[in-house]
Amino acid sequence: TKEITDVLQQLGVKETNPAYSTGLVWGGQEGRQTRTITSPADGNTIATVSMATPEDYEKVVQTAQEAFKSWRKVTSPKRGEIVRQIGDKLRQHKEALGKLVSYEMGKIYQEGLGEVQEMIDICDFAVGLSRQLHGYTMHSERPQHRMYEQYHPLGIVGVISAFNFPVAVWSWNTMLAAVCGDVVIWKPSEKTPLTGIACQHILREVLAENELPEGIFNLVIGDAEIGSLMSHDKRIPLVSATGSTRMGKKVGEAVGARLGKSLLELGGNNAIILTENADLEMALRAIVFGAVGTCGQRCTSTRRLIIHENVYEQVKERLLKIYPNLPIGHPLDSTTLVGPLIDKEAVQAFTAALENVQQEGGTLLTGGEVLSGDGYETGTYVKPAIVEAQNQYEMVQEETFAPILYLIKYKGDVENAIELQNGVRQGLSSSIFSTNLLETEAFLSHWGSDCGIANVNIGTSGAEIGGAFGGEKDTGGGRESGSDAWRVYMRRQTNTINYSRELPLAQGIRFDI
Ligand code: NAD
Repeated sequence: TKEITDVLQQLGVKETNPAYSTGLVWGGQEGRQTRTITSPADGNTIATVSMATPEDYEKVVQTAQEAFKSWRKVTSPKRGEIVRQIGDKLRQHKEALGKLVSYEMGKIYQEGLGEVQEMIDICDFAVGLSRQLHGYTMHSERPQHRMYEQYHPLGIVGVISAFNFPVAVWSWNTMLAAVCGDVVIWKPSEKTPLTGIACQHILREVLAENELPEGIFNLVIGDAEIGSLMSHDKRIPLVSATGSTRMGKKVGEAVGARLGKSLLELGGNNAIILTENADLEMALRAIVFGAVGTCGQRCTSTRRLIIHENVYEQVKERLLKIYPNLPIGHPLDSTTLVGPLIDKEAVQAFTAALENVQQEGGTLLTGGEVLSGDGYETGTYVKPAIVEAQNQYEMVQEETFAPILYLIKYKGDVENAIELQNGVRQGLSSSIFSTNLLETEAFLSHWGSDCGIANVNIGTSGAEIGGAFGGEKDTGGGRESGSDAWRVYMRRQTNTINYSRELPLAQGIRFDI
């Protein structure tokens, strides 16, 4: 469409079908397999991309290795200055990039803008961080000795990202890795490569303007095959992978087998607990945003609502009034709140989950239809569903990446609700709505939520970049973004310096020759 052609032009995207890029150089087209990218919003073709071959990958790794030799010598605040410039360019391109994210992935424009804002925020964070990569200084037990620790760059960081946050999660990794002195090879999701290509154009400008070598920021277009090459590659000391638990197990095993480091950000199965002391008006907005925002395709989407029996019917009734009126439509239409699912397979997973949960005994209360007709020709638009269910149902235990909200009733004490909330394999995000301090503190306590994220009177989705982001159990245990998440991108070195003329040994060991 004209609108998207304009967006690509605004973003300076000249190459829409490269197989890889080393920052300054684009490569590959002929003789490669291609993949056609269509928008889940209207089915129109946005681009045809080439898929990188193992030879392309090899070239990228070698270029990255070479770039690392010089990039690690640039001081960290100077590296921060490069990231600052990237942040400035993202500010200039916020609307265009947000629109492309929205059109390629299907999230509504507001959320597309939010995703780019998150990239800008992490750039700012990384700039500040570039002067704060500090370690501790310790007192030595030996006289006239000094001990301290330093953090040094690791080398190549491999970033494998998921379709649902096609660019933000890459930027969380890349901007931190960059100030840490690492070089990055990014394999975006094969479902959303064009936003990746657009970002690479932006970085290219910054690299060129600063006369930096190619190989600092690299892009490889590919699917699981390239992801697998990265996981097995000893030249990549850290692989940061975001996606399904199934994928994370494969990546974790491959990286672990070669004793590399992996940072895994995998699936969630997030719950909101609504106690009888909840402010329901507040909670309802959080529930609906969490459950249907991004059409239920956030790792932090609200999938389970654990409601006290005394307010259960009231909450159910309110939700059943809101759900049928949710505006579902083209993500770039400003009145839309629910866009499409990413593709028809996702729609199948949605309908299959609803069938299965009903077979297990669940009751479908609203939604579940696949929309057709005017504006819905792609077959990717669905009506968000609400199902009454039990926590132990197999379908409730799984993450279905679609807008299904399971209502689960609890009785008695908040500890019963916490037990249900923790009673799944995943451990990403959790939340409680209550104005009772005893309940909220129990939820946050050491016998409370077992998730990486635990919120009070805020929903499960919509984290800020300042905190460490990630989760436990099947979510993979990784932490990205704020707080001290940067440490994983560096290697720690302990240094002991002797400024005496003796050589005392630690622990007072005597060894006279
Ligand atoms: P996915 O697992 O299908 O793919 C994610 C990425 O992994 C893609 O780039 C894909 O090409 C790659 N990949 C797949 N198999 C691989 C393998 N064997 N080796 C190496 N790479 C491989 O996930 P998706 O459908 O793109 O994304 C949805 C999933 O991502 C959901 O489970 C969601 O919860 C999760 N997610 C988690 C977070 C988080 O921070 N915890 C954030 C976003 C998404």
